[in-house]
Amino acid sequence: MILYDSSLDMNFRNYGIMLPILDSRAGRVIRELERTGSGAFPVYTLDKARQAAERIAGESPPPIGREDLERVHERVFVSRLYNDGSGGLERELITAYELVDREGRYNRYEPEKADRPLAELFATILRQVEGTYLACRMALEQSSEPGFCFYLGGGMHHARYDSGAGFCLINDSIISVRRLQNEGRAPLVWIIDIDAHKGDGTAEVVTFSRRRGETFTDRAPAILTLSVHMGKGWPLDTETLSVSDSGRAPLLPSDIDGLMEENEEALYLPRLREGLSRLEEMSGNRKADLAVVVDGADPYEHDGLASSALIRLTLEQCTARDMLIYSFLRERNIPSAWLMAGGYGERAWEPPAAFLRNLATGTDNQ
Ligand SMILES: [Zn+2]
Repeated sequence: MILYDSSLDMNFRNYGIMLPILDSRAGRVIRELERTGSGAFPVYTLDKARQAAERIAGESPPPIGREDLERVHERVFVSRLYNDGSGGLERELITAYELVDREGRYNRYEPEKADRPLAELFATILRQVEGTYLACRMALEQSSEPGFCFYLGGGMHHARYDSGAGFCLINDSIISVRRLQNEGRAPLVWIIDIDAHKGDGTAEVVTFSRRRGETFTDRAPAILTLSVHMGKGWPLDTETLSVSDSGRAPLLPSDIDGLMEENEEALYLPRLREGLSRLEEMSGNRKADLAVVVDGADPYEHDGLASSALIRLTLEQCTARDMLIYSFLRERNIPSAWLMAGGYGERAWEPPAAFLRNLATGTDNQ
């Protein structure tokens, strides 16, 4: 099934933010599936997904709130986000969306063109996180096995423990997974990140949980992370982070990192396959209860973001990548929630559309 809600579009330009992210992307995927007659997937809005969860569990899941964020992020950071009127939220958004450069000048930010206050973005971001949570619930609670839900949103994998980064304010995957685990729904979760950029925020948040005492013991809640990404080019400002961050490593390792160098596209699938096998080995005798796939489209050769150009997969390679993960999880009966994540420019809708079309017209209908 697909989770799609046009009210989750970020409409960045309304806030004066000039990012190359097109709001039409999710809608374009839906239209493409309709156009090609591959509408085999039921499409859920946020409301419909919430109602489905309520029917199964007997109560409606509450919206994502402060308690959910505090389970994952530093409390001082979270308090700044909720400190209405003090300007803290605006400053955090400016950091997350990189709207001011090192010299203090506006960067891709033209506030004079904004017709809405920047702080309003936060409400939409929280609803985006709710979408990720509900996509996980739908994957977990589907009657057909293993459950599958593709969410045309989410994937804020650069959000760090105590700040936003790389267009991500808060980490939707971890916030969602930690709420599920707090509810006793998914003790072991794999986060499989195939965006062109490393899931560095995710790796950091998970590492910090372990430093606070989380252990990988029988049935204890745990998250294991795999990230296959460009070996260079991210973060853009590694040097600044390493200098200014009081000894904190700029790039903490994921449990498994697959690094892609330039012109290694032919090695992508073997490296991904190896990463998945290692993830399974690392899980020992525990079967993952859920996989969250951060299914970035920016490794695509026609992606519009200059900084993702170090991986240039063809559309066929993107689909093969997604199908490899899909089949791997299906063979092991592991439910999965897929997040659309990174993807820039006019053609960013093509990889998710091709994957879903392939599923809908193949034998693996859901
Ligand atoms: Zn990316």
